[in-house]
Amino acid sequence: MIGVDIGTTSTKAVLFEENGRITAQANQGYPLHTPSPSVAEQDPEQILSAVFHTISTVMKDSAVHPDSVLFLSFSSAMHSVIAVDRTGNPLTPCITWADNRSAACAARLRDELGGHELYLRTGTPIHPMSPLTKLMWLGEEQPELFRQTDKFISIKEYIFAKLFGEYVIDYSIASSTGMFNLQQLDWDAEALHIAGITAERLSKPVPTTRIMQGLLPGMAEQLGLLPSTPFIVGATDGVLSNLGVGAIKPGVVAATIGTSGAIRTVVDRPLTDPKGRIFCYALTEKHWVIGGPVNNGGLLFRWVRDEFAASEVETAKRLGIDPYEVLTRIAEQVPPGSNGLLFHPYLTGERAPLWNPDARGSFFGLTMNHHKEHMIRSVLEGVIFNMYTVLLAMEEQIGRPAKIHATGGFARSSLWRQMMADIFDQEVVIPESFESSCLGAVVLGLYATGRTDSFDIVFSMIGSTHQHQPVKEHARVYKQLLPIYISLFRSLESQYQAIAEFQREQAGE
Ligand code: ADP
Repeated sequence: MIGVDIGTTSTKAVLFEENGRITAQANQGYPLHTPSPSVAEQDPEQILSAVFHTISTVMKDSAVHPDSVLFLSFSSAMHSVIAVDRTGNPLTPCITWADNRSAACAARLRDELGGHELYLRTGTPIHPMSPLTKLMWLGEEQPELFRQTDKFISIKEYIFAKLFGEYVIDYSIASSTGMFNLQQLDWDAEALHIAGITAERLSKPVPTTRIMQGLLPGMAEQLGLLPSTPFIVGATDGVLSNLGVGAIKPGVVAATIGTSGAIRTVVDRPLTDPKGRIFCYALTEKHWVIGGPVNNGGLLFRWVRDEFAASEVETAKRLGIDPYEVLTRIAEQVPPGSNGLLFHPYLTGERAPLWNPDARGSFFGLTMNHHKEHMIRSVLEGVIFNMYTVLLAMEEQIGRPAKIHATGGFARSSLWRQMMADIFDQEVVIPESFESSCLGAVVLGLYATGRTDSFDIVFSMIGSTHQHQPVKEHARVYKQLLPIYISLFRSLESQYQAIAEFQREQAGE
């Protein structure tokens, strides 16, 4: 079984045996073009060639006979838009989730065009990441190109069209466009009206379990597969990662902190938030994932390492240990709560729960008694506090979770893992998961092909590595600080815009 994850930095293909053992994997990166701060585009051809390269590489490296490949199943990044002409040629690059050029359209959608009502039906928070706002922007900025476009598709549809000559969009990617009605499982008429298009200019929505067969001539040879190998359309990387880390039961929440972060949980029906803070995306018609994406995760620790810790990084190099480990040991020297130093990690604005691109970072509570170790610790704490505020928004929908499954680079640090258990005041388990989106994709494939009737099969394919219980005394300290952390960002809200405008002016934007 091959799981393919088409991500923003690279495409990965992983060949699994039926028991979950990995026999081969391949990864190919590609650039994200950011010629100016709001632009974030990729070349669809480069991504397509990475998909071909990684699949053919795992076939070659594993020496598996094409006959014995049960299926391929696909995960992909959300929110991308490519305008293509009648022959399927791209008229634009792949405009990614990180592209912010539609910020003014998103604001107008929210303030003047009934964006909140639309969010309640479509599950995609009103934000420039959403393809709906990207179409509004394209229609306004490049009307001629907009008119010439035959279809607006995502990167996964682009790749499937090359393989099968057909435009299909899985319910999961569709549910992240801001234009898909979650109850009707079809395009939302009003959203299409706002985007200025009809349904013919989008792909046909199909279940995530849809099996495609009959590769176009020449494709099978290039991939090292048979023309009849089943391809499962699959879902988005976020919802599949939930499946891949085994966070599929009610009350189990997946918390990921890599460079960015996310909090998610599976529910059995579409569920949106009256306050518009959390997304709802499809995994299948019976499994929906709600949660929030967080911009400011591990990149904050990287920032500390690169900006504050030149001498510690030197020491680490001399000793041959990871600089993050040295920094974590320094942070460990001060007590939970960093003696009353709070840090807001909004260095790159924030999506959930604030949904404010102008939010900015700050240390609060500094005194002469605070030293570097307090600052390092409070940064780590600030990242977890921020994640917790997203969980609090989710709790209004699902109640208090029973367990947290945590993943991502942050989980390499026992201090940071324990901090999550203490701030969340919950048991935190670290599943042993490699490439969770690829694993999620193959579990969905097993389900789609009728080899299993339950996602529970994932439990036999993953183990767990660490477990942390909250330390009551620490949890108590964090509970005291949380209200200050929250009321602080509320009271700073009006100042965020002013300082962000000043910064933009200085940058000549
Ligand atoms: P990505 O999201 O880009 O795939 P990772 O999941 O590898 O990245 O996470 C990278 C982040 O993990 C780093 O920015 C850093 O914050 C954190 N990290 C990596 N190694 C360690 C470590 N040993 N201790 C603590 N944090 C770490």
